[in-house]
Amino acid sequence: MPKKVKDAILRGRKTVEEAINQGLDVVEDVLHQGRSTVEGVIHHSFDTVEDVLLDGRDKVESALKLRRKTMQAAVLHGREDVRIESVPVPQAAAGEIVVKVGAALTCGTDLKVFRRGYHAKMITPPALFGHEMAGTIVEIGEGVGNFAPGERVVALNSAPCGQCYFCLRDQENLCDDLLFNNGAYAEFIRIPARIVAKNTLRIPEHVPLEHAALTEPLACAVHGLEDSLPRKGDMVAVIGGGPLGLMILHVAAISGYETIALVRHEGQAEAARQLGAAHIVQGSSIRKAIEQTRALTPGGRGVDVAIEAVGVPEAWQEAVELVRKGGAVNFFGGCATGTHVSIDTNRLHYNDVTLRATFHHTPAICRRALDLIAGGKFQASAFITGHAHLYELNGVFEKLMNRNTEIKTAIVP
Ligand SMILES: [Zn+2]
Ligand SMILES: [Zn+2]
Repeated sequence: MPKKVKDAILRGRKTVEEAINQGLDVVEDVLHQGRSTVEGVIHHSFDTVEDVLLDGRDKVESALKLRRKTMQAAVLHGREDVRIESVPVPQAAAGEIVVKVGAALTCGTDLKVFRRGYHAKMITPPALFGHEMAGTIVEIGEGVGNFAPGERVVALNSAPCGQCYFCLRDQENLCDDLLFNNGAYAEFIRIPARIVAKNTLRIPEHVPLEHAALTEPLACAVHGLEDSLPRKGDMVAVIGGGPLGLMILHVAAISGYETIALVRHEGQAEAARQLGAAHIVQGSSIRKAIEQTRALTPGGRGVDVAIEAVGVPEAWQEAVELVRKGGAVNFFGGCATGTHVSIDTNRLHYNDVTLRATFHHTPAICRRALDLIAGGKFQASAFITGHAHLYELNGVFEKLMNRNTEIKTAIVP
C-alpha cells in the first residue's frame, strides 16, 4: 500500500507538473490571443465611431430616416379636424429633397385653414398641413447637386414657374402657376423639385432652426413694407397686432422709420413696444384711433405710409383715413371673399393718395428675409412665444382661435 501511495503521489506530481508545463503555454496563448483580439476590437470600433463622427450628422440622420417606414404627421380632414396620423415617410424623387423638420411655426393662414377646413389656392383635404418650417436634409433625389444630406435648410412654401407673363416681369409673387407645398407639421417633409431649385436656402450655422422658420412670414412682411415705398424719415402706421402686423412694425422700426402701432389688446401693445414701436394707439374705436394717430403727426397732417394688417374691410377704410396728402396705403391683410369697401373718391383724388395691396413673396425677398434673421438686428425670438409637440397641435389651434397672447408657437415633432 505505501508503495502504491508513493507511486500515486509520484505519478500525480508528474501529471500536475505536466499540466502546469502545458498549461502555462495555453494560458499565455490565451492572454496573448485575447490581448490582440481586445486591441483589435478597440481599434476597429474606434475607427467606426471616428468615421461616424467625421462623416457626421448626415450619415446618422439619414440612417435614422432610412430605417423608418412611417412617421407622425398632421393631416387636415376638414373644418377644425386635424388628426395626427401615421403616414409613409416621404421619398425624394428626382430633383427633390426630404427634410427632417426641426421646427414648424403656427401661422394666421394655417389658423384660417383650420377654421374653414380648406384653402382655395394652397390646400384641399385630406392633406398634410403646415407651411413654415426649417430642418435638416436627410435625403436628396437624383440630380440634386446644390444640396447634401446633413445641411440645415429653410424650404419655402412656394416657388414660381419662372416662365409666365408675371414671372418674366419680376412679379413672381403673382405667378400664374405658383407651386405650393404643405406638410410642415410632421417629422419629415418632401420638398418638390421646383422649390428645391428656386426657394430653398441654406441656414447659417449660428441661426437656430426655429428662427430660420420665420423666413416665410418675414418675407411677406418685408415685401409689404418695401412695396409701400417708404422714404427716409417717414412715419409708418401699422394697423393690427397679429404676427404679421407686429413683423411689419418691427421691420419698419429697425429700418429707421418712426412707427405707430394700432393694436387692440394689452399683450399686443406690450409686444409692439418691445419690437420698437415709437407710438402706440390702443383699443379705441376706429374713429378715435384715426384721431389719435393723426394727432401724433406734425400739424395732424396724417402719416406718410399706412399698412393694414388685419384683413377686415373696416380696417382697410381706416388705413385710408390715416395718411397725409400724397401718402401711401397698403392693404396688406387679405379679407374674406366677396367683401367690399367704399372709399371717399374726393379724398383719394384731391389728396393724391396711393393705394397698393401686397401679396405673398418672391425668392429674392425670401433670401433677404433670411439675411435679416441672420443679421442680428431682427428679434426673431420675440415672435416665438410658445413651444408644443406635434401631438398638441389641436390644442394649440384651439387656443389660437380663442385669441390668446401667443404670437407664434413652434411645433416640434
Ligand atoms: Zn404663414
Ligand atoms: Zn410664373
